[in-house]
Amino acid sequence: MATYVSTPKLSSPTLQTLCNYKFPMSSITLSHCNKLPIFGNFTSFSPNPGRICSRRFNAAVRAESTNGSEPVRNYDFDLFTIGAGSGGVRASRFAANYGASVAVCELPFATISSDTTGGVGGTCVLRGCVPKKLLVYASKYSHEFEDSHGFGWNYGADPKHDWSTLIANKNAELQGLTGVIKNILKNAGVTLIEGHGKIVDGHTVDVDGKRYSAKNILISVGGRPYIPGSEYAIDSDAALDLPSKPKKIAIVGGGYIAKKVLRGFDEEVRDFVGEQMSLRGIEFHTEELPQAILKSSDGSLSLKTNKGTVDGFSHVMFATGRAPNKRAVPSAVFSQPPIGQVGFTEEQAIKEFGNVDVYTGNFRPLKGTLSGLPDRAFMKLIVCAKTNKVVGLHICGEDAPEIIQGFAVAVKAGLTKADFDSTVGIHPTAAEEIVTMRAPVRKVRSTTSEGKANSEIKAAAGV
Ligand SMILES: Cc1cc2nc3c(=O)[nH]c(=O)nc-3n(C[C@H](O)[C@H](O)[C@H](O)COP(=O)(O)OP(=O)(O)OC[C@H]3O[C@@H](n4cnc5c(N)ncnc54)[C@H](O)[C@@H]3O)c2cc1C
Repeated sequence: MATYVSTPKLSSPTLQTLCNYKFPMSSITLSHCNKLPIFGNFTSFSPNPGRICSRRFNAAVRAESTNGSEPVRNYDFDLFTIGAGSGGVRASRFAANYGASVAVCELPFATISSDTTGGVGGTCVLRGCVPKKLLVYASKYSHEFEDSHGFGWNYGADPKHDWSTLIANKNAELQGLTGVIKNILKNAGVTLIEGHGKIVDGHTVDVDGKRYSAKNILISVGGRPYIPGSEYAIDSDAALDLPSKPKKIAIVGGGYIAKKVLRGFDEEVRDFVGEQMSLRGIEFHTEELPQAILKSSDGSLSLKTNKGTVDGFSHVMFATGRAPNKRAVPSAVFSQPPIGQVGFTEEQAIKEFGNVDVYTGNFRPLKGTLSGLPDRAFMKLIVCAKTNKVVGLHICGEDAPEIIQGFAVAVKAGLTKADFDSTVGIHPTAAEEIVTMRAPVRKVRSTTSEGKANSEIKAAAGV
């Protein structure tokens, strides 16, 4: 009997790490990708991995190698991947480039995922990173229009936004990207099969009634948003594809901002972004537990929490956060203002190194001088006092994700504060602040080597 591959709820076993992994020369094992169930061994497909082998697809029949004890088996494919999201596409392409015969199956395209719909490109392209950023770009114009008045711009009438144009253009772009990825798979020699994949046994996949055999099966089905039991709430899929602009939205979970969810972010950065968002009309209800969503006779929604009821919402959205990696892996939050970070938070650095020097800059960007808006930028450098290495960099403000991507190279390379200091700042930019911070705002000195106890924080001036 066929076993259904059910999509795990909430967290996504993304294959991003696998994607960036360089397969070793002799044999490949996917065991480092600990969340992925792999059937059989994923062995090297080419004696010369540097060479792109000729493509063998369209059900090339392969014989399983044997040490003599097992019977020889023929398979339709070396690798059958279920799910063509970021992970599945990348793994399939790489395997094909190493000479494997590869097939990948994916559900039919839709902007909202379900048990029967998905689409080549997966969450990132269709319901995550890409549509989210397109909507963030769209929303930024309203601030730009406001900003522009101080620079002498006047409009005959207030600029109007047409939500349906935005959503139609966004969806056309997503369709286009799906087409691009299909071509990439085709050019890599990967056979794409549309349909719902089910594992029949360790070497057989059923796609809508048709069976394929494979030496290896890779499950790369990602995750789907999960709403804990309210018919009135929407998830991130729906939020990125609303037919009309939400008038007032409650976000349960608060993503990176809610203190509990934003665990991996520097506390000062969380406070700063919270303040900046409050200036733009976002109200935070921290330390409140949602209990029920109620619908009034006028159709508006109320959110009942353990501390009271907040009403008048057109939408209530459930959001979950992702914890960023504290090692030198950069990450960004495309909020407004956006956050970019790489390395340790101050709290983590103290725990790890004991003695750290902290440099911060909190300033009004040049643009704000004429626009008159209260927006500020915040930058923070965390330096290991013993080695002088920059072990953490956090930015909150315009272009933070773009800036952090470049500086992440320096942090990953283990550059020191002295290296930063000797780098010439480009003036006038916001990022020049990072190479011109001269005096620490505090030097944290721990009396224990682990830095876990008796942390003594001295004002920089007094040290
Ligand atoms: C709103 C949102 C914003 C995000 N923003 C960012 C960001 O800015 N930066 C970032 O790095 N990450 C971001 N992410 C996370 C990123 O999108 C995911 O980490 C990534 O898409 C996971 O890739 P995946 O291949 O593991 O899974 P997915 O992309 O979910 O792919 C799994 C695929 O498997 C298909 N599938 C499932 N079951 C079957 C089946 N039985 N048969 C056939 N096909 C099946 C699905 O249809 C889907 O296409 C965001 C996520 C969300 C939800």
